[in-house]
Order: sequence, then C-alpha cells, then structure tokens
Amino acid sequence: MTRGEFEIIASIARRIPAPGRDVVVGEGDDCAVIRCDAREDLLVTTDLLLEGRHFLPDAAPQDVGWKALAVSISDVAAMGGRPRHAVAAIALRPQQTGAYADGLATGLLRCARRHGVDLVGGDTNATDGPAVVCVTLTGKVARGRAVLRSGARVGDAICVTGALGGSLARRHLRVTPRVAEAAALVRGGRVHAMIDLSDGLSSDLGHVLDASRVGAEVWADAVPVHRDARRASAQDGRSALAHALDDGEDFELLFTVPERRARSLAKSGLAGTPVAWIGRITRRGYVLRDREGGPGRAMIRGGHDHFRSP
Ligand SMILES: [Mg+2]
Repeated sequence: MTRGEFEIIASIARRIPAPGRDVVVGEGDDCAVIRCDAREDLLVTTDLLLEGRHFLPDAAPQDVGWKALAVSISDVAAMGGRPRHAVAAIALRPQQTGAYADGLATGLLRCARRHGVDLVGGDTNATDGPAVVCVTLTGKVARGRAVLRSGARVGDAICVTGALGGSLARRHLRVTPRVAEAAALVRGGRVHAMIDLSDGLSSDLGHVLDASRVGAEVWADAVPVHRDARRASAQDGRSALAHALDDGEDFELLFTVPERRARSLAKSGLAGTPVAWIGRITRRGYVLRDREGGPGRAMIRGGHDHFRSP
C-alpha cells in the first residue's frame, strides 16, 4: 500500500486523542497554537529537508542551512507571528562532517540572526544515506490573534504577495520569509485566513478552502507570474500560468481579507512587496476563470506531494 502525503497526515491526525485545553490549534495549520500566558500564544512548527529531495548534493551548504530555518519562519509568518527559538537536528555522511557541516551552520545562523531567532539546541547524527536537516521553530503571537487557515469568509478577496512559479530553477534555496509583510498585514486588522505558499497556489488555497469549508474562484489574468515561471515555460512547454499555480516553494503569503482592504493593499503593497488580488471566496466549488466574470473551469490541485511526485 502506498499513500499520498495528505492521506498519511490525515490517517495520523485521526489517531491523535483530544488535546489538552492549552492547545488552541493542533495539527492542520501552518503552526500549532499553544496558550501560554495572558498576553501571547506560542506557535510551534517543524520542517525536514532531505538531500536529493529538497536540495541537491551539490547545493551550497550555506543555502541549505538558510532554507532549513527560513521555511519554518515562513510558517510562523503565515500565522501572523514573530519567530523566536529554534532547535536543529542534522544527520550527515562522514565526508560531510567538515566544511559541509560548517557551511550548514553558517547558513542556519545567518538566517537566525536576520530574523531575531535564537538557536537553542539540537542533535547531530551520522548516516550512510542522504543528509537530513530538521528544524523546529517556536514563535509568538498576541493571544487569540493567530491567523488560521480556517477563517476565510464568503465574499473575501484572495490576495498573494510577490510573484509565483519557477522557483526550482534558482530561488527555492534562497527563501525570503515574508515576516515583515505578515506583520504589516496583521497590524492593519481584518485578515480572515492566511497560509504560506509551499506546495503551490492551487494546492495551498485548497487547504484554506477545506479548513474554512468554502469555495473560491481564481482569476488567471490577476495571478502574478514570476519571470522564472516564464523561463521554465519556455523550457518545458507547460504554460507560465501552470507553473505559477502549481510549482510550489514560492514561500509567498496567501490571505483573505474584505474587498476594501484588498483594493488598498493592491495599490500600496506590504512592506515594499507587491500584493495581487487574485480572486474571491465563494460558497462552494473551486474554479479558475480567465478573468473576473470570464469563463471558468475546475481548478486542479496540482501542487506538490512528496510521496506522489516522480
Ligand atoms: Mg505552511
């Protein structure tokens, strides 16, 4: 029997007993949310990078170390939180224990310093297989203010930061987590739902729809296509739009807000990053339209599944 990533997660989630009262949000969002004091809630997330899957053996170890922490910081940002403490567990082959290990640490520590994260511990191990780098990160958010995947409302505008697609060619290791953008967004209030784009827009927006029990329409002409997506399209013949919808590893933010807020965000951007208003939350269904009011077709969740992709 083989199963997809989401089936595995669902089968484990079903077996988790009812959590304690301090668990505000358990499995199923970008981070878990734990009540800890009267002022702030604690966020917790973990990510595992596997050599040959998430990075190639010839990737610079500094980039791998940076990415290992940056992807978790992106998850904390997607909750509207501030990253705080990290632990890192690393398994390396014997020939990677010298300069390679130092490079990993350099990248990890550089990312930590940039984002105000304290590295507070970890574990190292030896392996004969691919290298593994696993980072667990905590964050803080004002009590009760974590932005969840489950808050999208019918009529909300759907927005994304930055531009999407084609990240695998060059950008995917140099992740820039959108912490400042998320903070500015949350300060303005009325953010109903948020997720970071790791699997790909079609799949990640699908997670928001599932959690919020709503539908959506996305307007193809409004999706911000990265120039790397156009480059990838020229090479493999898949449309640039398909790359923008399905590629994943963009680590941009997708969020839903009232339309008035979307209108002003599309003009002003967030912390210097452009914001695109790409669609609307609907009662049900998942539709890709050429443009607002234009002809539609079913949106296919084409995003990344670690256990299904070749
Ligand atoms: Mg995420």
